[in-house]
Amino acid sequence: MSAKFRCAHCHCHSGNPFAQRCKECGGILEVCHPASPVDRILAWTPNDSMWRYASSMLVDPSAVRMSLGEGGTPLIEAPQMASRLGIEQLRLKLELVNPTGSFKDRALSAAATHARHHGSAGLVGSSSGNALHAQAAYAALAELPSLALVPVTVSADRLVQPIRCGTRVVRVRGDYSDCHRLARTAASLSGWYNVSTTYENPVGLDGYKTVAYELWEACEDAVDWIVIPVGAGPLLGAMAQGYADIVAASRCPTAPALLGIQASNCAPIVRAFERGVPTVTPWDGDAASVAKGIADPLRGYAEDGTYTLAAVIGSGGAMVSVSEAEIEEATRSLARICGLHVDPAAAAAIAGLEIATRRGIVSAGSSVIAIITGTGFKEVPADFSLAELGAVFDPDVDPIESILPQEVSHDTTSY
Ligand SMILES: [Zn+2]
Repeated sequence: MSAKFRCAHCHCHSGNPFAQRCKECGGILEVCHPASPVDRILAWTPNDSMWRYASSMLVDPSAVRMSLGEGGTPLIEAPQMASRLGIEQLRLKLELVNPTGSFKDRALSAAATHARHHGSAGLVGSSSGNALHAQAAYAALAELPSLALVPVTVSADRLVQPIRCGTRVVRVRGDYSDCHRLARTAASLSGWYNVSTTYENPVGLDGYKTVAYELWEACEDAVDWIVIPVGAGPLLGAMAQGYADIVAASRCPTAPALLGIQASNCAPIVRAFERGVPTVTPWDGDAASVAKGIADPLRGYAEDGTYTLAAVIGSGGAMVSVSEAEIEEATRSLARICGLHVDPAAAAAIAGLEIATRRGIVSAGSSVIAIITGTGFKEVPADFSLAELGAVFDPDVDPIESILPQEVSHDTTSY
C-alpha cells in the first residue's frame, strides 16, 4: 500500500485512503504527492475548472469526478476599494461564484469523489453554513447518504437547499466545536467518511490548494499579501502548502505573505499571534459572531489553529481580528463600492485588510489579493426589514412622481 498521507507532527505515513488524523499521535495529515505537481498543472484542458489540477491532487486519476464546475473562479481588480483602503493594488478572488456559493465546493468535490471511488457508505460533516451546502450538493451528486450537524443558530434560510438535496440536517444545541466533535464520533460509529472541512479531511484541503495554483497562474507580477478569513484556517493552511509546491518547483521565488482574519468575538489564533506564542489554545465562553463561518472556538482541536498559525508565521504574514461593527461596515462597502453581496465571513477579509493597512502591517505600495469566500445571497441578515423599503406602491392609487428621484423632471407629457 503506497503512502497517501504524512503526519505534519511525527512525519509517519498512512496508506489508508480514509485516514483523517495520524494514528500514532493524532496529528494533522498532509497529502503526499509522488512528484512536484507544478509541471503537470500546465497541461490543462478547457472546462476542467478546479479539476485541471487533478494530477496534482490525491484523488485517484481513474475516479469518476463529482464535479459541478467548482474552481476556476474570477480574479478581479477592485481599484475603488484599493483607493479607499490606501493601497496600490487590490484584487478579489471571487470564490462566491462557486456552484453552492463558497470555496467549500472545492473541498467537497474532492472529498465526495474520493469517498465514492473508495466505496464509502456515506458522508458526515459539521458546518456553520457554507460547508453544509457543499456537502449536500456533492453527496447528492455522488448518490451517497449524507448527515450534517449544524449549530442551532444556523438560520432557516440556509436549511432549504441541504434538505432539498436529501441531506439529513441535525441542529445541535451548541457551537461549531460541538458539531465538529459529534461529526467525528458519528463518522467513527457509522464508518461514513467525515467531510468536515477542517484539517479533519486532508483530501478536502487538497482541493483548497487549487486556489493557490490558480492565483499563481493568474498573476504575472508579484503578489505581496493574500488576505484570508480564518476559523480553524484550513483554506489558509492549504494555500500555504500550494504556494510551497510552487516555490519548491522554482516557479516563483517567494510565496506571498498570508494575512489571516478572525472575528474579535472568537479569535483564538489572533490571540496567540499577538501574544507571540507558537501554540493556539481554545476560545472559552461565547463565540457568537455575525461571521458564523469563522467563529470557531477550536475546542478539542486547538492544534488545527496552531498549524494555521505556523503557516501564517512561515509566510511572513500576520493575524488580525475585526469587530462586529467593522464586519458590518465592510459588508456594506463591498456591496456599495464593488457590487458584491458577500457573507459576513467574506467581508471580514476586507475589514481586516483595512485594519492591517492602518497599522502599517500592509504598506501602501502593496499588491494584495483578498479571498472573497462566500456569497451573501444565502441568508437574510437578522437586522434586515422590508420596512427599509418604505410603503408598498399601489399603481391604482399612488402617483408615479412619488417614487421618482427629486432631480428628475416632473414633465411626464412624454409618457
Ligand atoms: Zn503523527
